[in-house]
Amino acid sequence: MSSKRFARLDLAEPTYVELDGGAAFPLTRAPWLGGARTGERLDGYDADASGPRPRLAPVEPRKILCVGRNYRAHAKELGNEVPVEPMLFYKPATSLLAQGGVVVLPPASVSSRVEHEAELALVIGERLKGATEEAAARAVFGLTIACDVTARDLQKKDGQWWRAKGMDTFCPVGPVVVTGLDPHALSITCRVNGAVRQDGKTSDMIFSVARVLAHVSETITLEPGDLILTGTPEGVGPLAPGDSVEIEVPSISTLLFSVGPGAG
Ligand code: ZN
Repeated sequence: MSSKRFARLDLAEPTYVELDGGAAFPLTRAPWLGGARTGERLDGYDADASGPRPRLAPVEPRKILCVGRNYRAHAKELGNEVPVEPMLFYKPATSLLAQGGVVVLPPASVSSRVEHEAELALVIGERLKGATEEAAARAVFGLTIACDVTARDLQKKDGQWWRAKGMDTFCPVGPVVVTGLDPHALSITCRVNGAVRQDGKTSDMIFSVARVLAHVSETITLEPGDLILTGTPEGVGPLAPGDSVEIEVPSISTLLFSVGPGAG
């Protein structure tokens, strides 16, 4: 299966592009909605979509679902049991943050412990309802990189995770969506200020991508463009103002963001 790379750029208006051979080729719409090349060609873009115009989040999902505790060593580091079936939660679309963005920490009076969770993310390519695992696996359009930023103290305190996981800027994603990769044959590394914090393998996921998507689609319709974060390996840790974070998945890219202070 050949691999293609897609991004979304801030041109005259937000535009999906295919990246190929040092150029960006604008598309008529999102590639998972059948977008085709318009015939334009923009030179000077590398395989990570770095170039003359700013990169936007490469997805516009109607929903963002995340898998909790999908790696044994991570469940253990937080003192949690391994779930018996996939455990999911939502992040709102307003939490999305593009490549190079700033995660804004809440005021210390709200949370004093915000952590990184480096995750492989899936972009859905087909409407899925009541899907078998085989159909679910085929419905993945491509893969990207995300950070499930989490206010750990609020996650424990609130019961519901709506704000612990859902604050504005708490879902850095991108910079590109890549097709044709095996989601269970990748490594994922998170560095904070250059020091390795997380270094995991997606082959260690408890619940496979196919199992997670089949489980979700049993009760909820997945739609093209929906974003699924697949869980984090061990090594989660705190973020502080001024931190610089890199999450690398070789063959996809490196997601970069920094951390800014909250107000007060
Ligand atoms: Zn997570």
